[in-house]
Parts: sequence; C-alpha cells; structure tokens
Amino acid sequence: LFGPAGEVHPTIFAEMTSLAVRTGAINLGQGFPDEDGPTELLEAARAAIANGHNQYPPGRGTPDLREAIAEHQERFYGIHLNPSDEVLVTTGATEALAATLLALSEPGDEIVTLEPYYDAYGALIRLAGAQPRTVPLPHPSYLPSREQLTAAITDRTRIILLNTPHNPCGVLLPRSTLEHIVALARQHNAWIVTDEVYEHLTFGVQHLPIASLPGAAERTVTISSGGKTFNTTGWKVGWLTASAEAVTAIQSVKQFLTYASGAPFQPAIATGLRLPDEYFSQIATGLQAKRDLLSEGLSAAGFEVSVPSGGYFVIADAHSVGYEDAVTLCRELPERAGVVGVPVTAFCSPEHSPAYASLVRFAYCKRTEVLREAADRLSRLRA
Ligand code: PMP
Ligand code: GLN
Repeated sequence: LFGPAGEVHPTIFAEMTSLAVRTGAINLGQGFPDEDGPTELLEAARAAIANGHNQYPPGRGTPDLREAIAEHQERFYGIHLNPSDEVLVTTGATEALAATLLALSEPGDEIVTLEPYYDAYGALIRLAGAQPRTVPLPHPSYLPSREQLTAAITDRTRIILLNTPHNPCGVLLPRSTLEHIVALARQHNAWIVTDEVYEHLTFGVQHLPIASLPGAAERTVTISSGGKTFNTTGWKVGWLTASAEAVTAIQSVKQFLTYASGAPFQPAIATGLRLPDEYFSQIATGLQAKRDLLSEGLSAAGFEVSVPSGGYFVIADAHSVGYEDAVTLCRELPERAGVVGVPVTAFCSPEHSPAYASLVRFAYCKRTEVLREAADRLSRLRA
C-alpha cells in the first residue's frame, strides 16, 4: 500500500479494473458478480427508499437487521447472540475489519494473519500501528502448519486475524486447525478476528465458524457481509458479532469512521438473511458450476489449477504456460488473450512473494457466457 516515500498506491483491484476497462478485456481481476441478486432484496431496498428510510439509521444498525443477523447465526451455526448488544452493522466487512483492528490493538502489538492475505489486512494492520506477522499458506494445499501457527502466536500477539473461506486461496480452515488456534489464543490471551464473508459460498464442504467452538466465543469477533451472499457488493452492508464488551469498544471507533451505514439497504439485507435455506444452497451450487467451468478452461489453456473449496477465486500457476512471473503475465494477458487476472503476490508481503511468484488469481463469480468466452480466449495462449 505505502511506497518507500510514504505515497499511497491504488489498490490492485482499482488498477486491474481500470486495465480491463482500458483494454476491453474480460475482468476476472476484481471479485464482484456481474448479475443482480434476488429480486426480493432489490424490491425491499426500493421500498425502503420510497418509504423514507433515507436518513441516518441507528449507529449500531437497525434493530430489525441486528435481529436478522442474530437469527442467521442461530439458524446456520447454533450461535446464540443478543441482537441488542452483541451485533454491530458496518459499512461492509471492510469497515468491520478497520474498526475492530483499531479498537482491539495498540500501536506496536503484533497481529498474526495468514499469507497470502486479502490486501486490506496489510494496510489496516499498518493503519492501526500494529506489527504484521504472517503464517504462510503453502502452495498448493494452502493449509497453515500447526508448527508455524504455534511459533507465530506468542504473548506479543494481540489479534489472530483469520479468513475462512479464504481469499485468494479458496481453502476453508478445518476444525483441527481452528481448535488449535483457539487453544493458542487462550494460552496467549489474544483476540480472534475472523473474516467469513464467503461463508455461504462453499463447495461440498461446510463452513465452520470458529466462534462456535468451545472457549472461542468470548474472545472472537466474527465479521461478514451481505455483498457476496446476495450479489450486492456495492451496497456495502457488513456486520460483526462479538461479546457486548467488544462490540461497545468497536462501535466507539466505528462512530468516528462512518457513524452509521446505508439506511435503505439494511431492511433489504435483513430480508436476504431471512430467505429460506434453499436460497443459500442454490447460490453455492450455482457458483460451483462456474468454478468448474473456469477451472477447466484454465487447465485446457495449460495452467496448473488449484481447485478451490470456497469463495470467488481460483489460483492458476502460470509456470506451465511459460511465465515464472505472474506480474508479467497479468500485464500481457489483456493484450494476448483479452482477460484480466491478479498476481497472487498482490496479496503477499515482499518477504513471502517469491514463493507465490508464478500464481494468478482469477474470479469466477461471473455469468456463464462470460466465463465461456474467457476460457475460449485463454485457449489462445496455447496457439
Ligand atoms: N474480506 C474479504 C476476504 C474479501 O474478499 C472482501 C472483498 N470482497 C472483503 C472482506 C470486503 O467486503 P466488503 O465489500 O463487505 O467490505
Ligand atoms: N474483494 C474483492 C476482491 O478480492 C474486491 C474488493 C475491492 O475491490 N476492494 O477482488
């Protein structure tokens, strides 16, 4: 994020999206769906605007949305929450992450996260004045080792920042890893902050929230967002659930970041969270077919592909198509094949980048015909 002279760079997504717009290439760089979500939500937002929900809502979020979030955690995970003081609505998962890291860490504290990491984590850890420490996810399993977690999490650790299902690696952290992390957090008195924005986008495996494990809830902040689950990434409605004490501390930061979050979108997201179970299983099944389509297209084009278990993204190794450096491939790909991807090193620290140098992240949360066209264009790389 920050260059050597302290200058601020555009995020990798802004850079790659403008490259796609400039070249007319298919944008598989930034992860956003190219179709609207359920009509019930769109209608609920329109109705909320028509009915005057256009001024500041309560800073914690509307009581109805907080209740819908608590019901959702109970329905899917058996997690009991008091919607009045254990739920906070935020402006996307991004604000939830920012407010949580700023509230729960002091300058100089260590924040341990998995690497590669979603780009905002590195920037937010620095904005909080904390020290990042990372546990690498080795290609191609992308699962953290027990030994490396044990070595990284110490008495200096204030926060363990997790992301499952993981962007960009597409893995879900298994129960044994989560149990080990809870034990380490308890031993070293650390907070667990878990970003679960892809919780409903899993393929044949079940998402397990760490807050549902014994001994975890009181030290865990769980973050999610309506963006991925309801194809409404532009609405920027997110939320977090935690102990009342943590929610109060985090809200004290949130009130000076944004004070409150988009009023008419809150009843719409509440409607979404109350959709029947079939909605949630169907979005996963539909996305799995897209994952398969793009993964097969990439394999046919000569890439080595790690098929993800969840989320929006597939990682492809460009080594087998003649590129050791994915940054070079991503610069040339719009011209050579009319497709945009993101080098995985955009999610890495300089120290760990070499291990991921030949990997590219492609988004498959796009319409089937767009993915077919992308696969067809990628096959030109072979020619
Ligand atoms: N966390 C992860 C892992 C993400 O991939 C994203 C982006 N889609 C976010 C957080 C940001 O979510 P939001 O748009 O709700 O702020
Ligand atoms: N989360 C999306 C991704 O990883 C993009 C979010 C953004 O543009 N900041 O591609």
